[in-house]
Amino acid sequence: MLEITSLKDGIVIDHIKAGNGLKIFNLLNLESLEDEVALILGASSSAMGKKDIIKIENHTDLNLDAVAIIDPSATVNIIKDEKVVEKKSLELPEEIEDILVCQNPKCVSTSERSVKSKFELLHNEEKSYRCVYCGHIYDVEE
Ligand SMILES: [Zn+2]
Repeated sequence: MLEITSLKDGIVIDHIKAGNGLKIFNLLNLESLEDEVALILGASSSAMGKKDIIKIENHTDLNLDAVAIIDPSATVNIIKDEKVVEKKSLELPEEIEDILVCQNPKCVSTSERSVKSKFELLHNEEKSYRCVYCGHIYDVEE
């Protein structure tokens, strides 16, 4: 396997379904991180065919809910001294605060800056969320 950067300390989000890597990268706003971030698209995987991987230098306080929303089957590895010290499993959060933006332009969470967006999980398999303010259904798959 092609090893693009080996990480001494940091976080590796592995087994991301091919195509979801960029979505996670964008949702987590990783381009604004000061730390070094590697986004690897279409890496070959014996189990999955193709997968995406995100590597982040340093132990940034990562919003794992955002990762779970996009791809709950991804795995998150915490690396210390080049070894995996912890694996975190992801679950779709029951509630999401301040990550998704309501698509309803009239929603109070989009018009009032002081109101944080808040969604509750409506349907697990369809990964749909409902805005608690206006009832708008947010379909993550789209
Ligand atoms: Zn709303």
